[in-house]
Amino acid sequence: MARRRQPRRIARPTRRARRAPPARPGAPAGTPAPGRAETLEGTVVFRVPFPEQLDDLKGMSPIIVKQPYHIDYVHSFGQDSPFFAGLANRRLLGTRCPRCDYTYATPRLSCMVCGSETDWVDLPKTGRVHTFTTCYFGSEEFLPECPFSLILVEFEGADTLFLARLVGAQPKEIRVGMEVEARFLRNAKFKPTDVYFVPRRP
Ligand SMILES: [Zn+2]
Repeated sequence: MARRRQPRRIARPTRRARRAPPARPGAPAGTPAPGRAETLEGTVVFRVPFPEQLDDLKGMSPIIVKQPYHIDYVHSFGQDSPFFAGLANRRLLGTRCPRCDYTYATPRLSCMVCGSETDWVDLPKTGRVHTFTTCYFGSEEFLPECPFSLILVEFEGADTLFLARLVGAQPKEIRVGMEVEARFLRNAKFKPTDVYFVPRRP
């Protein structure tokens, strides 16, 4: 059974509203000015203390609010997309110049030497530590993982180096020239950290 519609109660205008100027030219006197609808979105604070004397406002404690912050960041990997598709398929891809044979372990679609368009090539899954560092502090995303070690990897047949994590070795155990092999995250995040290295097993 349909509910019976209650007659809508109309509040009597307050003195302030009665004195308010018309919202639009020609609108009848007493029409409240248009305002924004009140909602419960965002930060809702009740009973904010307020002093009797405005002079006391200068001693007021700062209002501190906490609210979630979220953005969807849509961006393109552009010409680097095949590299990330490779990581998701456990392939480490570099590029090679068909003209001068210069080979990039960190892929570039244009050759830095001669400017030609390069071709995608598979890199070896093993390489050697060219240099390394251990980070005891980092940006927010990496803080929980500190300390972690970064290495520049040399690959046979590649002319540039590749920056990656080295996992499974204490900082004191890392040596220049040590052999490392690539590992891939099972669930690719489409980040450069989808590939990392571990000391090569003998
Ligand atoms: Zn070239």
